[in-house]
Amino acid sequence: MNVYDSQRIAGILQNMGATEAAALDEADLIIFNTCHIREKAAEKLFSDLGRINLIKEERRQNGKETIIGVVGCVVQAEDEEIEKRAPFVNFATGPLTYYRLPEILQKIARDKNIRLIDTEFPAESKFDHLPENTAEGCTAYLAVQEGCNNFCTYCIVPYTRGVETSRPVEEVLKEARRLVATGAAEINLLGQNVNSYHGEDAAGKERDFAFLLRKMAEIDGLKRLRYTTSYPADVTDELIACHRELDILMPYLHLPLQSGSDKILKAMNRRHTAGEYLDIIGRLREARPDIGFSSDFIVGFPGETDEDFAATLDMVDKVGYIQSFSFKYSRRPGTPAAVYPDQVAEKIKSERLNILQEKLFSLQLSFNRQCVGKIMPVLFESKGKRKGQLFGHTPYLQNLHAAAPAEAVGRILPVRITAATMNSLTGTIVQQQPKRNNSKEV
Ligand code: SAH
Ligand code: SF4
Repeated sequence: MNVYDSQRIAGILQNMGATEAAALDEADLIIFNTCHIREKAAEKLFSDLGRINLIKEERRQNGKETIIGVVGCVVQAEDEEIEKRAPFVNFATGPLTYYRLPEILQKIARDKNIRLIDTEFPAESKFDHLPENTAEGCTAYLAVQEGCNNFCTYCIVPYTRGVETSRPVEEVLKEARRLVATGAAEINLLGQNVNSYHGEDAAGKERDFAFLLRKMAEIDGLKRLRYTTSYPADVTDELIACHRELDILMPYLHLPLQSGSDKILKAMNRRHTAGEYLDIIGRLREARPDIGFSSDFIVGFPGETDEDFAATLDMVDKVGYIQSFSFKYSRRPGTPAAVYPDQVAEKIKSERLNILQEKLFSLQLSFNRQCVGKIMPVLFESKGKRKGQLFGHTPYLQNLHAAAPAEAVGRILPVRITAATMNSLTGTIVQQQPKRNNSKEV
């Protein structure tokens, strides 16, 4: 979501005639887009700002002004902290109001000494004010839903991105068609809780996420469709049917479990049990036997015992994730769990994270190794590390390098996998026509 927002911010600036600076110390304007999900992410902002202020000072001595801005969730949660700790910041605006950037920059151009801090949750949608989106390569993000009403007790998102809102169906389709027309072969639909999408259609009728996926699948020229992130309790039968019926939908789903213990899931305010989660996985597998799953995990949530943690490990074995993201629980001020009494010691969190990651990484490696010898359709996206190589992704979002001509960028070609590590695959292009169905080979 932050990458998408950053691209839209760059679009606003380009629309105003700005061009990208070749180096930081050549930039007249520097904007940080920030994440507040864990403490580490927020702290990074303040250390980066200190570093940038040195550049600002040095440029000032050479008679050049530098405008520094901060955008995103840290602003929403820590606006006063920014004012206090970084008085040299010219403006700061939350993730829902960055569309006001032209206005903000005009005000600053008139008076270099004003400081603008905007943490409003506006009634209007930022999407109504952004310039048209264009693809930067052959894969593109498209935000369809923003905010969250789930209030998981550890999570800051509902407080920084606000209540859940969905963009109208036609608006999404228009942006999607434009992304395809400007070069996107793959679109990844985004939302904090994307499968709870409920946008209005042209007739004003509320439509669900499955409806949107079916409409997306009809777009001429679009070759691959993905979405992230899904909330398990909102996986409907209709959504499962989409995985059965839409070839364009990649056989890979990020479905965060967080914990395998029912007691912890309840304390997290997740609206499902481990058993219900397994049931959803089973039904998705039945609909799409070649589907692979990834997840997010939090270890050391308040009250997590060895037994609860063992339940998480057990779920990892049962599902057999092919990729995953795992984190130590981070206390976020203002969220309910931050003041739960039974916080877990840092040392135990680290130990549990190591054990969990060892398991997750070995599953990922073994899945990648199973792919060796198979032929997979790969969307080539950019130049590779070495000369004559291109970089792309398999249907399972595995990174892949293969020797390929530059003209193959933007195309899906069959690749025989020759080697695998935990983070990437290597392969050689098979000399045959690409198949229409680009996802059912493994
Ligand atoms: N909306 C998505 C995820 C949003 S945040 C969902 O519900 O799945 C991405 C991930 O960050 C979460 O899935 C969770 O695993 C992690 N996360 C969120 N808050 C956290 C916290 N306070 N400490 C550690 N990890 C956290
Ligand atoms: Fe945060 Fe939970 Fe909403 Fe995801 S579903 S954004 S974890 S509150």
